[in-house]
Amino acid sequence: MKSLILDENVQYLKGVGPTRVKHFEKLGIRTVYDLLTYFPREYEDRNNIKKIQDFMADENVVFVGKICTRPQIRRKGRGFSLTYFYVTDTTARVQVTIFNQSYLNEKLEVDKEFAFYGKVEDNKGHFEIVNPVMVEVEKIDKIKGYYPIYPLTAGLKNGHIAKIISELLDKKYALPEVLSNSIRQKYALCEINYALEQIHRPNSIESIGEARKRLIFEELFMLQLALLTMRNQNFATKKGIKFKDTNYDEFTKLLPFELTGAQIRVIDEIMTDMSSDKSMNRLVQGDVGSGKTIVAAIAMYVAVKNGYQASLMAPTTILAAQHYEELKKYFSKLNITVELLTGSTTKKNKDIILEKLKNGEIDILIGTNALVSDNVEFKNAGLIITDEQHRFGVKQRMKLNAKGENTDVLVMTATPIPRTLALMVYSDLDMSIIDELPKGRIPIKTYVVNEKLEERVDNFIKKEIDKGRQAYIVCPLIEENEELDLTAATNIYEKYKNEIFPEYEVGFLHGKMKKKEKEQVMQSFKDGKVQIIVSTTVIEVGVNVPNATLMIIEDADRFGLATLHQLRGRVGRSTFESFCVLKTKNMSQKCRERLGIMVKSNNGFEIAEKDLELRGPGDFFGIRQHGLPEFKLANLLTDVKLLKLSNDAAKEIIMKDPEFKLPENKVLKQELFGRYNEQLLNIGT
Ligand code: ADP
Ligand code: MG
Repeated sequence: MKSLILDENVQYLKGVGPTRVKHFEKLGIRTVYDLLTYFPREYEDRNNIKKIQDFMADENVVFVGKICTRPQIRRKGRGFSLTYFYVTDTTARVQVTIFNQSYLNEKLEVDKEFAFYGKVEDNKGHFEIVNPVMVEVEKIDKIKGYYPIYPLTAGLKNGHIAKIISELLDKKYALPEVLSNSIRQKYALCEINYALEQIHRPNSIESIGEARKRLIFEELFMLQLALLTMRNQNFATKKGIKFKDTNYDEFTKLLPFELTGAQIRVIDEIMTDMSSDKSMNRLVQGDVGSGKTIVAAIAMYVAVKNGYQASLMAPTTILAAQHYEELKKYFSKLNITVELLTGSTTKKNKDIILEKLKNGEIDILIGTNALVSDNVEFKNAGLIITDEQHRFGVKQRMKLNAKGENTDVLVMTATPIPRTLALMVYSDLDMSIIDELPKGRIPIKTYVVNEKLEERVDNFIKKEIDKGRQAYIVCPLIEENEELDLTAATNIYEKYKNEIFPEYEVGFLHGKMKKKEKEQVMQSFKDGKVQIIVSTTVIEVGVNVPNATLMIIEDADRFGLATLHQLRGRVGRSTFESFCVLKTKNMSQKCRERLGIMVKSNNGFEIAEKDLELRGPGDFFGIRQHGLPEFKLANLLTDVKLLKLSNDAAKEIIMKDPEFKLPENKVLKQELFGRYNEQLLNIGT
């Protein structure tokens, strides 16, 4: 048992030098614990021995064969050697080539039998295996089995990470068991260290399944325990502000439109919370374009009217500035002072703003997460709102929650998730849903097209722009092969800029740009100086450029439906008709069906449900789901059953032992507070 060393930095491990430390850091791996809980994304099945005559180019194969030609050895200069020979299994023969492993040479005798694993490469018409994994045939079990494939980052090889983790497991680092015997029995879950071994070095498909079940359960269970604990804290200790005057007619009179029924209902729910003496902890879910900003504005108006300050926090500078511009229009007419504080605010201005905030000269502060930093002091904050809360993640939400002593908290999100899920993922919050779009919105027309229609799409873009409209073109960027995707996106940008639309201004936005540069591009787009913006998904959730009516998405099949829906929500924000074109090279039935959902529905909740249905719980390996808390293994869309079970288990514990005083919950408490320590500080120690 070496559990104390779990905190040790990976830099002290054998075979981990400074470069690899950097790679690991990129993957969020800092400690031995992080490494042990860095789980494979999938497994390669290396169980079936393939006949050489059945080889196909580019496939990975396990095979057994005898060396049938005398190995030829070439040395070229220092440290470079090349050995090649043929291997036969009686069905056919194949060439094996080995670079720079001359120590192998003495083992290579004609007629000796080996087991190999490697990739079949087509070398000018004949097959060749280069640098295979190779063992004497008696040791074939070293090759066979399910081989873990880890999510990687540029420069890091799968073999390296597999080896380092495997060595750790050999050393028998033990993770603490947080699930009591009774929970493990009740939900048929295996022991943690067995799970750890099996997830990295599985014996069978079944044991992978068992290990995953256990680890996913634990992840979900711990999160829910933390959320429920927080909710308990709020109920038990937090007395809220009682806002007496909740009439907001004066504000609505200024609006150029009528509030929708759903907006009014949600505002009512908020007012009920605000006027009670319990503190508010409410989530407003509303589809893109459903008008959440105004709901937030009205809540802030009421807070100010009752003599308190309010703040609105957005995930990016662009969004914060956008809210500021829009809301200032109303608040200035009501004699309410609003200020904007972001990373771009100059030091001098920042100091002035902070001073005024402390004196109570500012009523409403809008900004980025700079707002939760320690030196921001309100005179008397009554309400804190977070917009696009999913971008901040569960932990930040907890932090914010711990900060506001008895202030009311409202969080808003445009990521619709099915209600059953929401109840668990947001179990610390009450929920309101804006399920209606403002009147008069023309539904966005959505099309799925393949490459053949590319020219027609380009002509269509041209027509819209000549009418004075603007377009977004979004390219996928998946972190795993970031470099490659960025190159692809750059090519697409250059193609549009130089070949297809040389007569227009085309801008480019991607995550590697400096914040300032991004803002500049976005601003020129807002000002209409740039007509087309090519971007990776960094175009922000919530960006509002009503004149943009075209959303073109390249390789749309690579995005989740929730993300597609979010992206589409960037258009259709005015009385002009808007369009979304989903381009794809994948015309499989499954893909067409999935993208077809986007064509049929404009409703985020419906899309989320359908997506869940279509993907089903059968989907073995996780996909990163935007907007939901990030897990190492769990996938909220596909692990619904485990989510439900872990929710039951967490509730049972909280009911029986809310402060984790029972001896059987001692390890659990330690781990829970270890993982969520900042957020759960106030609970009884
Ligand atoms: P989201 O919910 O996506 O944050 P916004 O709050 O940005 O949506 O609202 C989108 C647009 O709809 C804004 O331009 C806003 O002024 C407008 N809007 C909000 N409520 C209404 C309404 N009841 N009727 C008409 N337009 C509205
Ligand atoms: Mg918004």
